[in-house]
Amino acid sequence: MKVLIGGGSGFVGRELIRVLRDKGHDVTVISRKAGPGRITWGDLESQGLPPCDGAVNLAGENLMNPLRWWNESYKKDLFSSRIDTTKALSQAIAASSSPPHSWVLVSGVACYKPSLTDQYTEDSEWTPFDLLSKLIKEWEAAALLTGNVAQTTKQVIVRPGAVLGRDGGAMKQMLLPFWLGLGGTLGSGQQPFPWIHVSDLAVIIAQALEPSTDAVSPSPQVINGVAPSLNTNYEFTKELGRVLRRPTIFPVPGFVMNALMGSERAVVLTQGQKVLPKRTLDSGFQYKYPDLSSALKQIAGS
Ligand code: NDP
Repeated sequence: MKVLIGGGSGFVGRELIRVLRDKGHDVTVISRKAGPGRITWGDLESQGLPPCDGAVNLAGENLMNPLRWWNESYKKDLFSSRIDTTKALSQAIAASSSPPHSWVLVSGVACYKPSLTDQYTEDSEWTPFDLLSKLIKEWEAAALLTGNVAQTTKQVIVRPGAVLGRDGGAMKQMLLPFWLGLGGTLGSGQQPFPWIHVSDLAVIIAQALEPSTDAVSPSPQVINGVAPSLNTNYEFTKELGRVLRRPTIFPVPGFVMNALMGSERAVVLTQGQKVLPKRTLDSGFQYKYPDLSSALKQIAGS
């Protein structure tokens, strides 16, 4: 199978490429920079979709970029880097004379309203309530295929929680302070912390790219890309401290997080949602890292 990956040079993309190549698939990345095994977004626009059996978009300005201050220009980049690339891919798929059999968008769980009690599955209704949920709405809408192509190309939206892995995402920034014994709960610590190990997410995406065995549904199938264990930020903090054998006695109050990160962004750490991977579990998917202990041990290398 030939797979085209928008933003495949990043944290999730590198793991997805490893999983796909292990299965013998060919991968081409769409990137802002030209290079071997890559095309650029400009090439996609000028030359149309290259031959492929599956396509996925992972491109997006990093929401936790520590080098960027939370301001209008950063927010604009968060939106345009996701929506414009997704639109470019969905339009190229719709315009192709031989569209792929599958098209996968990886968005996020920020569409579900943070709550200490509510539980969300893929069937949960939601309407935008803040900046990040508005982003998800526009991003997923940009992916939507309609008309003839929607009858033949399977559409999947994977919504991951915080992606945990050694080489990127939130862990990359957290390991050092925790290792130095400076880690602690964020905000109240009671907020849910939906998460998934990057290896499990890559396998879920790779499976979503496989051709459909049933008739193709004209509307996208949603998959919550989260581990099945529902954890809080407190449980995550204590487990990471335990695995690293370090104290976690420095809580960071919510107002400090808001001041450092901007409240619209800090919300992903100071608040959270209980997200259940109903569809993944129903499909019989076997998680390699179903709980925090196994995931964090792998990441910390012990
Ligand atoms: P990365 O931060 O690693 O970025 C992925 C790629 O996006 C980069 O390699 C880069 O490719 C491209 N990119 C970055 N900035 C821009 C920009 N301004 N314009 C266009 N392209 C850009 O992402 P992850 O791999 O961690 O995540 C993949 C997707 O999953 C993202 O859309 C993210 O929002 C989503 N997600 C991630 C989570 C996580 O915890 N990591 C949690 C939930 C959702 P290049 O430089 O080659 O152009």
